[in-house]
Amino acid sequence: MPSDVSRITSVDTYDIRFPTSRELDGSDAMNPDPDYSAAYVVLRTDADDEHEGHGFTFTIGRGNDVQVAAIDALKHHVIGRPVGDLCADPGSLSRTLIGDSQLRWLGPEKGVMHMAIGAVVNAVWDLAAKREDKPLWQLLADAAPEWLAGQVDYRYIADVLTPDEALTLLKRGRDGAAQRAVNLRATGYPGYTTSPGWLGYSDEKLTRLARQAVADGFTQIKLKVGADLEDDVRRCRAARAAVGDGIRVAIDANQRWNVDEAVEWTRALAEFDPYWIEEPTSPDDILGHAAIRQAVAPTKVATGEHVQNRIVFKQLLQAGAIDILQIDAARVGGVNENLAVLLLAAKYGVPVCPHAGGVGLCELVQHLSMFDYVALSGTTADRVIEYVDHLHDHFADPVRIVNGHYVAPSAPGFSAQMLQESIDTYSYPDGAFWTADRAAQEQEARA
Ligand SMILES: [Mg+2]
Repeated sequence: MPSDVSRITSVDTYDIRFPTSRELDGSDAMNPDPDYSAAYVVLRTDADDEHEGHGFTFTIGRGNDVQVAAIDALKHHVIGRPVGDLCADPGSLSRTLIGDSQLRWLGPEKGVMHMAIGAVVNAVWDLAAKREDKPLWQLLADAAPEWLAGQVDYRYIADVLTPDEALTLLKRGRDGAAQRAVNLRATGYPGYTTSPGWLGYSDEKLTRLARQAVADGFTQIKLKVGADLEDDVRRCRAARAAVGDGIRVAIDANQRWNVDEAVEWTRALAEFDPYWIEEPTSPDDILGHAAIRQAVAPTKVATGEHVQNRIVFKQLLQAGAIDILQIDAARVGGVNENLAVLLLAAKYGVPVCPHAGGVGLCELVQHLSMFDYVALSGTTADRVIEYVDHLHDHFADPVRIVNGHYVAPSAPGFSAQMLQESIDTYSYPDGAFWTADRAAQEQEARA
């Protein structure tokens, strides 16, 4: 039986939640009690190679109820599809999912349904890369520019990026790509760390972790801000004192402010030389970001982790609203849409510094930045991938950081696969951790 008649036989979803709120890891001005979660999906096939496609989107706690249901609503589009066709053209599934006329009403191309599409599409790319026996970054970097250009949906962005322009950018990206792949394997891709800067941490912990970050080879750290200005002044002063002048300190308000407040608050922290202000206001407010950017220069403006699709990214770039574009591997509609966003950023010459952290976002997004370096923008100048040092041990191929750089993955796939033991332990509500936790709480209530 030829292998290309194998089909997708199941699309299995898992609600996985980690009790991160208990340590205030991940606490910021808008998310005081995050239980980092993944709405996780596994595509299984009847092929004899035993490859599975793993994908997920990152949510927080109760949000996972809704997110898993959204992925379940897409299953019928995937089950029964020929695996060979699917992996040869993930864009065809992406278009089908986005085009579901009944589910499209919930967006279009935004929010829970779009994130669900991203999880499924990313699982297909994981499967495709495993079948090619390549890490995803390399599959993308090796792909013919014509094929890659054909994976992008130009609807609503063709006024700014035509298929011909995309092809030109991708062909240009191939100049010197082989040498850059060698460089990437040798030195990795630069990262920065958010670990010192969570809002719930004491000044002592902040100082200790900031010093540690520099000792570990990072040249940039990031602090959460936006809850209390006096606290932020004190924390920024402590961070700057800990790292010295040669290290970039970015700040992140997680959408806390109105436009005027964002300007005042950022200016009030200017004496500590913040490199960028991230998510100063609503991710939908394109003109607000443009106004903030004008007012707080030379502090740069960054956003993107909650930007819902390529169209909003297009407008942020058109309006000159951002200095730094922050893709998220699991927010928009998966690899295909992130290719569109990377192409838009390349066209405008705006550096892409991905959002990561959460559950598995570092594992995923490193592949997109590494592809961008090797075969699209061709540079890592002023580009860094966010790094947060928790929850990696739940993944089969966790990120590795050496001297402040992400080591290029060599295992086939999208680094998306979680360990079965972690899935079993942290599945909600019936995994081993949550079952024991419930029993302990009930006992406490009785005592
Ligand atoms: Mg952020």
